[in-house]
Amino acid sequence: MAVIAVDGPAASGKGTLAVRLAEAFGLPHLDTGLLYRAVGYHCQPDLRDAEAVALRFDPAWLANPALRGDDAAAMASKVGAVPAVRIALLRFQQAFAAQADGAVLDGRDIGTVIAPHATAKLFIDADVEVRAARRHGDLLRRGQQVSYEQVLADLIDRDARDRARTSAPLRPAPDAFVLDTTHLDITQVFAIGCAYVAARLGRADWAP
Ligand code: C5P
Repeated sequence: MAVIAVDGPAASGKGTLAVRLAEAFGLPHLDTGLLYRAVGYHCQPDLRDAEAVALRFDPAWLANPALRGDDAAAMASKVGAVPAVRIALLRFQQAFAAQADGAVLDGRDIGTVIAPHATAKLFIDADVEVRAARRHGDLLRRGQQVSYEQVLADLIDRDARDRARTSAPLRPAPDAFVLDTTHLDITQVFAIGCAYVAARLGRADWAP
């Protein structure tokens, strides 16, 4: 069973890499950020309900396109700081990781909390200005009118909350392969990620 953990801050490129690794190695993929986004979305407007909402989490919620926006991301980062919410979502993520063939999960605490025994652990990072520029470009392409400065401020805010929280803070696992993508494009990130994963899976001869 091959579990591949892909962690990192917002807009680091970890989600794109995780999707492509899942395709390349023929594994199911879970974007765990969507779980926190879904809980945040279903709590609105009162975050005090976060634990109760997380306890009745339904995977059908994940298909909601409204979860992809930056409002849902800000709510996610607030509910993600509530320890009881993290506990309520733990079992679903661990069951996903325990599938017979294995799985790829991306998030903030996959290599540290959800799957500490993962076969391969990647921690994807990049300078915050570069991440903000990437996210800003994505939002403009999706037709959302937002300034670069606003996107940068939101990322700084979210990074600070994700890193400072007491429960499962954002940090690389001690045995993670840390990849800084500031000066890399997705093709380069994918090539490096594949080579690392193939080596960890004992498939050093593997080629895309
Ligand atoms: O990855 P994404 O940007 O969708 O995550 C949204 C927010 O959900 C993050 O800023 C983080 O606070 C929270 N999250 C988390 N743990 C995860 C995935 C996401 O706390 N495994």
